Amino acid sequence: MSVTPIRVAIAGARGRMGTEAVKAVSGAEDMVLVATLTRDDNITETLKSAKPDVLVELTTPESVMTNIRAALQQRVTPIVGTTGITDDDLEEIRTLCAAQETGCLIAPNFALGAVLLMQFAATAARYLPDVEIIEMHHERKKDAPSGTAARTAEMIAVAREGTPIAPPADAFESCAGARGGRAAGDIPIHSIRLPGFVASQEVIFGGQGQRLSLRHDSIDRLSFMPGTLLAIRRASALQGLVIGLENIL
Ligand code: NAP
Repeated sequence: MSVTPIRVAIAGARGRMGTEAVKAVSGAEDMVLVATLTRDDNITETLKSAKPDVLVELTTPESVMTNIRAALQQRVTPIVGTTGITDDDLEEIRTLCAAQETGCLIAPNFALGAVLLMQFAATAARYLPDVEIIEMHHERKKDAPSGTAARTAEMIAVAREGTPIAPPADAFESCAGARGGRAAGDIPIHSIRLPGFVASQEVIFGGQGQRLSLRHDSIDRLSFMPGTLLAIRRASALQGLVIGLENIL
């Protein structure tokens, strides 16, 4: 029995993630790549003529909302890997999804190992409330902290049952930012940008007389492709806005 292939468009197709996604979708038997979009293309016109089921969005924080809006207006399901989306943007996407009766997935990390790390971190947070996050990415990443680190902090903040130890009242930074930025749950995130990394994250829990470190390293962008293909396959079942690959596994 032949199955109708999923029609896929990719925005940011010439970028580092987009190039891998083009190869992965082209190699998937149950998908057909109907459009590759660069910044020079008119997205609405392209979507109207190519008629994709799914738009894989792998561009930049400046472009992502324009592309999501255009996709939802055409009732194309956005599968979004681009990071740097704000809470106000999420509210707008939620409203658009409802109005257009179309789903949308925002996946801060398509690497299954990173998703597992987030889940392990949420479990550990129930028992070890003192935690900090270090995330390490290549030097060309624009946004900080990473979407994965921000999402990890949110998951820890929700799961955490105990109260973290307060810093001494006279604690201070002699170098601004030395203690990191504060994310959900007031959890410190330290962002490192250096050549030699693709995407790494370490979540460190401290307890009396013990430490627990959870670490994941994406050493190649291939690590993001099984999750990307999985998300494309689940796109038609999405209802409204879904945040995090863990919610469709
Ligand atoms: P990149 O190499 O800079 O690629 C971005 C591409 O988007 C560039 O080719 C850029 O074109 C293109 N672009 C910019 N505006 C566009 C528009 N309006 N329409 C179509 N294309 C447009 O970046 P990357 O490393 O591939 O990462 C892309 C995004 O994915 C980033 O936000 C990154 O943080 C995120 N990311 C997510 C995951 C995940 O698992 N979710 C993993 C890795 C990275 P120009 O070169 O002409 O500017």
